[in-house]
Amino acid sequence: QTPFVFFCRPGFESDCAAEVQSFANACDLAGYANTTPNSGYVRFFLFDEASEQAFFEELNINELIFVRQWFWAKAELIELPLEDRITPILEACSQIAMAKRVLVEHLDSDEGRELSKFCKKFSTPVTIALEKQGLIHDDSEFQLHLLFLATDHCLVGFSPVGRASELKGGILRLKLPKDAPSRSTLKLEEAIQTLMSGKQQKAVLRLGNTAVDLGAAPGGWTYQLVQHGLQVTAIDNGPMDKKLMQTEHVIHLKENALAWMPEKPVKILVCDMVEKPSLVAKLMAKWLVAGKTEHAIFNLKLPMKKRFQEVNECIGMICDDLEEADIDYFWQAKHLYHDREEITVYFRRKIKGQSQ
Ligand code: SAM
Repeated sequence: QTPFVFFCRPGFESDCAAEVQSFANACDLAGYANTTPNSGYVRFFLFDEASEQAFFEELNINELIFVRQWFWAKAELIELPLEDRITPILEACSQIAMAKRVLVEHLDSDEGRELSKFCKKFSTPVTIALEKQGLIHDDSEFQLHLLFLATDHCLVGFSPVGRASELKGGILRLKLPKDAPSRSTLKLEEAIQTLMSGKQQKAVLRLGNTAVDLGAAPGGWTYQLVQHGLQVTAIDNGPMDKKLMQTEHVIHLKENALAWMPEKPVKILVCDMVEKPSLVAKLMAKWLVAGKTEHAIFNLKLPMKKRFQEVNECIGMICDDLEEADIDYFWQAKHLYHDREEITVYFRRKIKGQSQ
């Protein structure tokens, strides 16, 4: 059998494996994961071809939290001749499918990152060679993956466009703005781009909309919202960045973020407090059920061992509370590239009957 390959942050292999296993179970498919600690990926095997095909058709990156990228490996090339890697790779690719693009990837582990320069350099000649063979076609529903584990060792496979990431390794690289109050500003920027649809981004991130940032200091997340013209109420006992306060888009209240609530509803609530995940989940549910916010983006800090289980319980709790209150909702969560021991979750209250 050929493995499905799932990329994750190094150190999160067992969470990634538990999630993939649970996804397979939910599809009534049986399989097993093969993991190496800190490798940055998981190999998952199913028992027969029909199950593999069914799994391929069900997998969707947006429904997986600890997975950054995935593909179905069709060949594992070892001892590639260093003077001509392209010929065997072309041969393997021609057995797979025509593709919209090819992603030359490496893992995010220490070993994997050492291959970054090589992958970048190899990307252009291999793309040109594939184009010459007629294997790249803009209308294709697939993308090819070349995952290098060493300069002479490559997994070759494919994924469906739209249900795997179109970014190499599923990593969204962002530049830290010069005047950002903290690095964690990138977490919210990545969360917005990854978890909210373009339509929702447009509706929320516009001049004059209101937001609350719970546990805001020094203001990296507030900064993102202010950049889009929102009026932000920042709740934190700690000090906020002076330059950010001078924008006059921020009201800073030194209140307990676990208890404070606004009188008037806001468009979006964000929360990056270092608190027990179940406590944060309960708080988010309270705001959403009370209709105090339409959108919520928040982190669940996960210092514990069974992170996938904890995440399931916390998200399940919010869903239960919303359902009990007869509120329609959408949610998506991701272990973002800029997240460390935490994941980022997005919830939106939907108007009843609305599809998107
Ligand atoms: N998102 C911020 C940024 O981008 O700059 C960083 C937030 S930091 C990780 C967490 C903050 O939550 C701390 O400043 C802490 O003071 C605040 N905090 C934690 N518990 C709180 C509570 N109960 N009420 C108010 N603030 C709280």
